[in-house]
Amino acid sequence: MLIDTYGRKINYLRLSVTDRCNFRCFYCLSQKDFVLKRHDAILSYEQILKVAKIMSGLGVKYIKITGGEPLLRKGICEFVSKLTALPFKDVSLTTNGFYLEEKADGLKEAGLKRINISIDSLDKNGFVKITGFDGLSQVLRGIKKAKEAGFNPIKINAVALKGNKNQLSDFLDFASELSIQMRFIESMAADKSYFLSNQELIDMLGNRLTLMEESGLGPASYYCLDSNGIKVGFISPYSKKFCSSCNRLRLTADGYLKPCLFSDNKLNIKQLLDNGSTDKEIEDVIIEAVASKPKDHDFKVLTDNMNCIGG
Ligand code: SAM
Ligand code: SF4
Repeated sequence: MLIDTYGRKINYLRLSVTDRCNFRCFYCLSQKDFVLKRHDAILSYEQILKVAKIMSGLGVKYIKITGGEPLLRKGICEFVSKLTALPFKDVSLTTNGFYLEEKADGLKEAGLKRINISIDSLDKNGFVKITGFDGLSQVLRGIKKAKEAGFNPIKINAVALKGNKNQLSDFLDFASELSIQMRFIESMAADKSYFLSNQELIDMLGNRLTLMEESGLGPASYYCLDSNGIKVGFISPYSKKFCSSCNRLRLTADGYLKPCLFSDNKLNIKQLLDNGSTDKEIEDVIIEAVASKPKDHDFKVLTDNMNCIGG
């Protein structure tokens, strides 16, 4: 089992399988000039699976596949089927939903049970403003398809932004219509001009929500919608830091292990994999990454764009 210097059990890996994305969400790609990694700088599926297998042996139980946009990467369903065959308790995926209509059935057949879908606006023009892409109707069809394919739970994630503040109630109605969970996430970026705290959201929506007992492993605080009991989560990395219960490691698309999202500390696993290192040598670097996990973070500017780290 992986336990860090501060006694936290590390059992959750966020796996970014690509830095590519068809969207250009301004809060995700705004930290620096956006330069795509060369293809040979990205981990192969075989390399990712090798790391995942070693992580599983070290007690990692939960995997989140992320990106970039993971459904853009060729062969994603086959990769998912190999990952779900490993002894993890839970494998899930987060997507912008654009390719879900096409891929939902394949992902389900590959053994994926649950899925998170990011959507930050339910308004056609608002969606284009945030993502730089006219894709709302395609994403909505993707969400519907995911529901039909039987993913359970489906969680809808929206980054809380000044620009979508007038749609908060619409998001709740949208989640209610589909009977799926809604979660709001505070933006994590140096530019605070569009930042909206989750407390502001709760203040605006409070008359529709009741606080639930803290539940689950994750960092969200959950409320339920009074009208129908739909779960509404608030993930507040700024206003309610959850570092003391952080159980995560991140593997970036270009093969670095990041013990903390906001630290520039990262360990190069790809180099070891490219050089044919033994499982023991890779295991040692994973253990080193866990040992170097900081107690908490100070919200420095992100050193890499989110699309490569995976959020
Ligand atoms: N493209 C997929 C998606 O959008 O779900 C997976 C990758 S994306 C980097 C993963 C998650 O990170 C998304 O929910 C996205 O909204 C979130 N994210 C990206 N940049 C963020 C930021 N600056 N602050 C908060 N969340 C962010
Ligand atoms: Fe792409 Fe997801 Fe980043 Fe938006 S948040 S640019 S969809 S990786």
